[in-house]
Amino acid sequence: MENALNTHNKEEYPPMHTCEHILNGTIVRMFGCPRAFTTHIERKKSKIDLHCDRAPTPEELRRIEETVNEVIARELDVTEEIVSRTEAADLYDLSRLPEEAGETLRIVHVGDYDACPCIGQHVSNTREIPPMRIVSADWNEGVLRVRFKFRT
Ligand SMILES: [Zn+2]
Repeated sequence: MENALNTHNKEEYPPMHTCEHILNGTIVRMFGCPRAFTTHIERKKSKIDLHCDRAPTPEELRRIEETVNEVIARELDVTEEIVSRTEAADLYDLSRLPEEAGETLRIVHVGDYDACPCIGQHVSNTREIPPMRIVSADWNEGVLRVRFKFRT
């Protein structure tokens, strides 16, 4: 029985989806904002929407892209951990989690760089993810939309 959060497309593509975890984690670190509230993952091009109080500068966008590609290049293992909902509540933002999600949650770790609750499909090591590129970033009334794709 599936018992945790499903906020992702059915047409999931593990390398792109795992790349989205790293991108999300990077923006959260740099801007102190919550993780994306919407994600659209597709093979060719993906996008995430975050609540963010300002637009990133072109320099910051370059730094986000560089950081994500550095993390990918570290060949980090992607692992899963099952934790109780109460344990998870102390460590992760569960505000998007439906009530019926159950008493245990799956936490997905990208090395020690990023961790979040997810039931999606992931690669087992970041070496399976090609280098990415930010296609565009638009900021409008507190919402930052970042579009990204793989370079190859
Ligand atoms: Zn995931």
